[in-house]
Amino acid sequence: MFRSFRRCEASGTNSSMRRSDRMGWWRQLRWRIIAAQMLVVLVGVVTLIATADALAARTVDPEFLPVFESAVTQALVVAALAAALVGLGASMVLAREILRPLRQLAVSSQRIADGHYDERIAIPLSDELRDVAQSFNQMAEALAQVEQQRITLIGNVAHELRTPLAGLEGYLEGMLDGVLPGDPETISAMQHEVRRLRRLVDDLQHLSRVEAGQVTIQLQVFDIVALVERIVAQLRPQLIEQSLNIIVEAPDERIPAYADPDRTAQVLVNLIGNAIRYTPEDGCITLRVRSDTTHVQVAVEDTGIGIPAEALPYLFERFYRVDPSRSRASGGSGIGLTIARHLARAMGGDITAFSAGIGKGSVFTLTLPHSARPTTSTR
Ligand code: ADP
Repeated sequence: MFRSFRRCEASGTNSSMRRSDRMGWWRQLRWRIIAAQMLVVLVGVVTLIATADALAARTVDPEFLPVFESAVTQALVVAALAAALVGLGASMVLAREILRPLRQLAVSSQRIADGHYDERIAIPLSDELRDVAQSFNQMAEALAQVEQQRITLIGNVAHELRTPLAGLEGYLEGMLDGVLPGDPETISAMQHEVRRLRRLVDDLQHLSRVEAGQVTIQLQVFDIVALVERIVAQLRPQLIEQSLNIIVEAPDERIPAYADPDRTAQVLVNLIGNAIRYTPEDGCITLRVRSDTTHVQVAVEDTGIGIPAEALPYLFERFYRVDPSRSRASGGSGIGLTIARHLARAMGGDITAFSAGIGKGSVFTLTLPHSARPTTSTR
């Protein structure tokens, strides 16, 4: 019984598939447009016949009625044929105009799915299809950019890993060949390379979490001046060691920012850390804290090596370094500013960079919302 039920179900499925195969033409937009046009012609002709009959019966002399009806019928047949012909032609043109871009859209989507990210479609004339085509091309452009970033990222990561790994390999080979002694000095040099690898991996992990929006941001009101002073106190030993002066220029009263204090500290430590790294001995770092009604700003200004104008637009890109050998030697991975800007933006702020040129120092300005802004806007 069970088997017969299954057979019955299978044959039912087959018959419904056959029916849907037979009705396949009806699912095509072209035939639906043609059918709609023909329906309009048919309704027009039937209405005309009915109206003409009714009017003729009331207004035409019965003697002339047969002649009149035959003339009207002939006129209607000619008109119906002409309308059907024009309707058919117009529907074919219309269907082609709609279907061609749709078909191209399907082909191009498949090509993009196959990895051809440079695929674009021609822009059709009609407004609606033009919008669809433009959105499609924008989406393809965005996908191409993401793909390009992915390829660049893999290349950069491989490149960054190669340097410390090559260093470690060199030390190990030297020790195995007996060229290098396994003394604390060599082991400490190896440890330096391992630390560099660890920092890179940590930075990458942090960057991926920040970019994926997985970092918790706890917005609250806090005094940005107090935070800046606390960070300066923490970094003072390092500043003294490198013979750098630091000046904090801030108003006497508290400046309430609306952001995450821990993340703000992280961003500022990064900016001040860079200023320390790229400022030679006896240089000066100035931290200027300002505010207006909507924002608070901390500008980290140094008298260091400066940044060439052509490098400024790229500073916040992953792995970008103005002088790769110099920053790599000092342990820089070129990710710090990328993370810092992501964090600043996640808190509703931003970071900008300025330098008058090489040897003329740099200014990195962190902007965050003023506490007055969210309070008034939520009221
Ligand atoms: P890194 O870890 O290499 O310092 P960052 O993302 O923090 O990476 O900085 C990117 C690049 O921007 C640095 O390699 C350096 O070339 C440049 N840079 C950042 N801060 C300064 C600064 N205060 N003075 C000069 N150059 C800077």
